[in-house]
Amino acid sequence: MTRLLLSKIRIHPIFWLVIAAGTLTGHLWETVIAFVIVLIHELGHAFTAHWFGWEVTEIELLPFGGVAKLDEHEEHPFHEECLVLIAGPLQNIWLPLLSYGFLAFPFWGAAQHQIFLSQNSALLLFNLLPIWPLDGGRLMHVFLEVVYPFKQAYKRALYFSIAALLAFSTLALWHYPFSANLWIIISFILFAIYKERRLLPLRFLRFLLTLSSTKKRYARLKNLSVPKEASLTDVFSMFYKNAEHHIHIRGAKKPDIDGKSLADAYFKGQCKGNNISDYQ
Ligand SMILES: [Zn+2]
Repeated sequence: MTRLLLSKIRIHPIFWLVIAAGTLTGHLWETVIAFVIVLIHELGHAFTAHWFGWEVTEIELLPFGGVAKLDEHEEHPFHEECLVLIAGPLQNIWLPLLSYGFLAFPFWGAAQHQIFLSQNSALLLFNLLPIWPLDGGRLMHVFLEVVYPFKQAYKRALYFSIAALLAFSTLALWHYPFSANLWIIISFILFAIYKERRLLPLRFLRFLLTLSSTKKRYARLKNLSVPKEASLTDVFSMFYKNAEHHIHIRGAKKPDIDGKSLADAYFKGQCKGNNISDYQ
């Protein structure tokens, strides 16, 4: 299993850039240590995802932790998502012990140990910031998905991430204005948020498609009440992740609608118009 997961590891161009910069400026130990910390952190996510039977398609290493790419056609329970996300930063809790262990070997001195400890804690703290796509930001997204409908949760997570990134950047660049790594990472995150915002319509469509085709019955039930003038788009925008929807149409003498059947009929082209009253 370890070999299978290791074979899926890819190093993101941004990390290559950081590695090259570190090597060229003579910070070889810093670079090697950063790589080991990020790798173990990421394997924490990957093993946990694998444990839950998720399809891990690729593990991408980034300077601040990396991302395990998963099969996006699957929907996972919230508790599994949280545990997979926490499994990365959890590795950074025990990792200092590894460095203590290395002290018994001649290649590992007090200098390496110090670099290891400071890099490990920096990664742990940075990674838990509520900024998407960091683990903290992804956790925030999962919590928002519990509270808000899918589309709203997504937007809120991204907009909050921009605000948090701006606050963090102002603070960080005030203290370290000449840190090239910091500039690279901040630009990368900003671009990742922008890209994700543009992908939202596609993600939303995939969410509806998965919902329409899944055989799963979710334990969570959401009762939606919509006016008879509501468009299908309005109704779908009220759908939550990992939930069954019971739609009541106000002001129309029509039976209540099941959310999954509505999404299924929509994708099969069985909805006559774009209005909820046109259904059935
Ligand atoms: Zn992580």
